[in-house]
Amino acid sequence: MTAEELFPEVPPVLVVVCCDCTTLTSAPIAVRWIPRTSGPGVTLYACPSCAPKLGAAATPGDVIRTQPSWRSAAT
Ligand SMILES: [Zn+2]
Repeated sequence: MTAEELFPEVPPVLVVVCCDCTTLTSAPIAVRWIPRTSGPGVTLYACPSCAPKLGAAATPGDVIRTQPSWRSAAT
C-alpha cells in the first residue's frame, strides 16, 4: 500500500455562507445570481433548509432549451 492510496487527493469542498440564515454550509444551493456592470456577477447560495423557501432563480449555469415543436409551430 502506497502513501497515495492511504491519503488520496480529496477535491476541495465549497463552503459558503447561506444568504438567508448566515450559517456556513458545505452543501450550498445557488438561489440567485446578481449581475454587476464592473465584472462577473455574484452567485448567492443558500443552505439546504433555506433553499426551498427562497426558490431558485436563473443562474449563468442554466441553459434555456426550446422544444423543436415550438419552433415549427411558430414558423
Ligand atoms: Zn440557510
